[in-house]
Formats: sequence, C-alpha cells, structure tokens
Amino acid sequence: MMKPEPSIHRARYETFGGIVSSISPPFLAWVDKDFMIELGYEDSPLWKQERNYLSAPTEVHFSVTNQCGQGCEGCYMDSGKAGDEELSTDALKTHFKTLRDMGVFHVALGGGEAFNRPDFREIVSWCKEIGLVPNLTCSGQIMSEDDISICKMMGQVNISLDGINEHYTINGRKGDFKKADQAISALVKAGVQTGINCVVSGKNYPFLEELVKYASQKKLNEVEFLRYKPSGRGKTQYADYRLTQNMMKEFYPRLLDFSRKYKQEVKMDCSFIPSLVWHKPPLEELEKLAVVGCDGGNMLMSVKSNGLYAGCSFVENNEHIADIKEHWDSSVHFNKFRSLTKEAEEPCRSCDYLEICRCGCRAVALHATKDFFAPDPECPKVYNYHHKILE
Ligand code: SF4
Ligand code: SF4
Repeated sequence: MMKPEPSIHRARYETFGGIVSSISPPFLAWVDKDFMIELGYEDSPLWKQERNYLSAPTEVHFSVTNQCGQGCEGCYMDSGKAGDEELSTDALKTHFKTLRDMGVFHVALGGGEAFNRPDFREIVSWCKEIGLVPNLTCSGQIMSEDDISICKMMGQVNISLDGINEHYTINGRKGDFKKADQAISALVKAGVQTGINCVVSGKNYPFLEELVKYASQKKLNEVEFLRYKPSGRGKTQYADYRLTQNMMKEFYPRLLDFSRKYKQEVKMDCSFIPSLVWHKPPLEELEKLAVVGCDGGNMLMSVKSNGLYAGCSFVENNEHIADIKEHWDSSVHFNKFRSLTKEAEEPCRSCDYLEICRCGCRAVALHATKDFFAPDPECPKVYNYHHKILE
C-alpha cells in the first residue's frame, strides 16, 4: 500500500527557517530556509534575527476547568471545585485564537475533567475551525456516548492510567478500572487515536510492564510515561511517591525492553531525560531525534483555567501576563527557562548532555531546593555529585 503524501497543514517562520505541520500523517518538522522557499514562503525578517528560543510554543497545555470529582491525592493541578475566575466560552475562544495567531500548532486540553464544561464541544469545534489541533487528556471515568463523539474531533485522546486491574490508580487514587477500560475500548472502536498517560512513581514502578502489555493488546497509539512531580496536591506525598535512584537508573532500559517485547510505542516525558542520558546514548543520535528536556517557555507553555500563563503546568508563575503575544519575549518567567543552560550549576554545567537535558525538571528542583536554576536532585549524575559517589 502506498504511504499517504503529507500535506502541509500550517507553517510558521523561525530564525533557522520554519516549522511545518502535517495532520496526516501527523508530524511537526523543523525545516531550513531553502525548504520554506520551496514551499512558497518568502523571505522573513526573523531570518535575520538571532535568538535562542522559538517565536511561539509549538504546543500549549490548556486546563479548561479546574472542576473534577475524582479527588486524586496526587493531582498536580490541585483540581476539585471550578475556580472562581474560570474563563467564559468567549474568553477561551479569544485565548485560542491568540495562540493560533502566534503560530501554536497543538493544544493539549485537560482539567480538572474537561468534560465537566458544558461548552466543551463548542470549544473543541472552535479549535478545529481556526486550525489548532486539539488533543485531550482525561480520566475515562465519566465518558458518555456524546463525549466519545467529541473525542472524534481530537488529534489524540490519552486516558490517565497508572496501572491496570488491581493496580489501577490515577494519581495515587484507586478508581474503577472497568470504566477506564470501557472508555478506552469505546474510543478505539470509534476510530479515535488513543493512548495512555501513566504517572510513574515509586508505587506503580513494579507494575509498568503489565500496562505496556495492556496497551499493546488494546492496539493503542502510545503509552506516555510521566515522572511523578511535586506539584499541586502531589507535593504533600512526594516523599512517598518519588522514584528511588535505582528506579531512575533502570527506567529507560526497562522501557525499551517492554516496548520491544510488546511491540508497543512508548514515550517518556521531558522530565525523564536525566534517566535516559544516564546511559550515555550518542549525542548526535539524540540531536537527530530532537530529544529535549526542560523546554518550558520555548516549545511548551501552559495556561490555567483562569487564563494564567506559565512555562509548564508543573511550575507556578506569579507574573501577571495580560497579553501573551506581547509578553512572549519579555516575560521574566519564560526567560528564566530560556536561561537554564547559561545559568547551569555543577554538575550540569560540565555535563555533556546539558544542551539536551537543560538541568532536569524545574518542578522537582524548585520543590527540593527553592532555587529555579538548581540541578535536578533526582538525576543520578547530580545525586552522585552531591553524595561524592564516583561514577
Ligand atoms: S519543569 Fe521542565 S522538565 Fe519538568 S515537566 Fe516542566 S518542562 Fe518538563
Ligand atoms: S547533570 Fe544536569 S544536565 Fe546532566 S543529565 Fe543530570 S540534570 Fe541533566
């Protein structure tokens, strides 16, 4: 069978050339100036500029409501009741339009539980209409047939699942696995690109293999593993849930084994890069695959349900950003993320992987040290450095 020719959905200029997006097959590609010209784009003033960050994020994590009835102990958003100042339908639409105008390609919608918004269908339709690709993460605990039909408009839907059967939890809370399983089956049957988001903690670490096997049996697109972060309610139980040094070191080879054994695509989030580079993969391979660690305020940005912007959903930002277009370049908060490699302390400063890893996860470093620029204390190399352990 012939592979479909990608058709360019949207493109935007960058200092190096541009970024182009295709929906089928779905990808974003970083291309040079010549390629942009071949696509019919003319010279851009950006091509004469030098900067170390993008003209806009490629993906924005947008919490459309804080409302959620699950009450998970480790919820990184501290979700529960709807916030006092949640954005109205019109205000949400304006935010999405601004993001589209900036050149954002994808919005990862979440909550709280996004289906709690009565206008959710309208919001998702709006994203599609203006050319933003909406993706969704949800619990799979309250999905109706109508919700499944909304999901058909999404690029991908990921269900939060930290284990299966008797090991099923969402962010530390026991839930009804049957409901999540039924939601996954219904999504797959409806032809929705479906995946799993699994938060990896010291509690579910021993049971990750059965999750990958389950995903493979269900023919899911991917399993994305996210490191447990001390954020929101997750801060209170961080000491019990954090990964041990052995788990951090073993995580990457275990993941590779599971992926090969069950022929299942797996991903790890940006905060897991220190576990990957501990195994010293060739730098040039990582560069070719565009592997990148802490990238808030660059490829990534987040918005809370009250319209507050931050570099990443797991890091608080108290700086008031009234106009994101205007503040993208000048925000102190975003510029701190962009200065990570310049401000790096030892052992990150002399680490071969600094440009890729970018000092590990800020959410973990900030919680443990109160210093935004501190090396991630859970990185095995950082741990050894602080404990004077020779490698
Ligand atoms: S703080 Fe950085 S590494 Fe951690 S989750 Fe956010 S973007 Fe990723
Ligand atoms: S030493 Fe720093 S830059 Fe190197 S892998 Fe660890 S956290 Fe990342």
